[in-house]
Amino acid sequence: MDCLFCKIVNREIPGDIVFEDDEVLAFNDINPQAPTHVLIIPKRHIATLNDLEEGDLALVGRLQYVAARLARERGFAEEGYRVVMNCNDLGGQTVYHIHMHLMGGRRFTWPAG
Ligand code: AMP
Ligand code: ZN
Repeated sequence: MDCLFCKIVNREIPGDIVFEDDEVLAFNDINPQAPTHVLIIPKRHIATLNDLEEGDLALVGRLQYVAARLARERGFAEEGYRVVMNCNDLGGQTVYHIHMHLMGGRRFTWPAG
């Protein structure tokens, strides 16, 4: 399949991997927007959030759990961090394999930025 993140999962292209288990892979974003910017993805290809099925609920929970665990390991869980999942064009999605952005180590503003 011609999917960038499936290729990272399959080691067809390199990724700066920081966590892996049976279902999930996490690697550093190539264009970081914060001192920590990790992408957490399911190993199984799911194109967008709109493609989630009821059987995927535990998998999505696992993405969030891994994000929180990485934040704690890196020491910024208490001060705070941001997680983002973009969906489709207007949501800013550019890679069509769902991923959770974990960003930490700086202050984020809301809305925007
Ligand atoms: P999104 O815009 O939410 O789809 O996020 C896609 C993210 O993937 C962006 O933050 C990119 O910087 C990142 N990205 C693109 N190619 C790679 C790559 N080869 N390795 C790591 N991150 C990547
Ligand atoms: Zn994929």
